[in-house]
Amino acid sequence: MSQQENLGSLIDDFDRQRQPKGKDGGGGGSAQLPPKNVILAVVILGCLIGAAVMGARALRTEAGSLERWSQEHTLIDTETGELFVDYRVPDGSTYPMKNPNTGTTTLMPAEACYWTSDGRAKMEPTWVYVPQGERVTCPDCGRPVVGRNPRPPVEAMLEALDREEAGG
Ligand SMILES: [Zn+2]
Repeated sequence: MSQQENLGSLIDDFDRQRQPKGKDGGGGGSAQLPPKNVILAVVILGCLIGAAVMGARALRTEAGSLERWSQEHTLIDTETGELFVDYRVPDGSTYPMKNPNTGTTTLMPAEACYWTSDGRAKMEPTWVYVPQGERVTCPDCGRPVVGRNPRPPVEAMLEALDREEAGG
């Protein structure tokens, strides 16, 4: 019995605390809601900003490593077809680059095709010059080659590695 009384007075206290200024005129009750929303908004905003900062940092790291990778390119002379495999491209170079052998500015990045004509993969790619936005038929396998040409699936590449190691 006394427990129920205590509980009752607790609830009364709680109600009194929740609406301490009910007599101040309307809005007393609803005035308690906006701060909660504001806190929630700030928390969500904080999370979003944190995610954005982390995303930007990840992107920058990725761009940095891409830059490092892009220092060595396989270039192809668009006139003679001469290849410069893993050519060290100086920072800030623009294409076409000068061919050190002929002196003509006809060097462009080459795209690699790792397919064979019988639909398997190979370790030594066929290098193809693909003008920006175009697709070129690979002279070796007849497949289309595009910019940033995708490699065959990893399994096919591993099979090619095994095959070429076994075959010598
Ligand atoms: Zn090919």
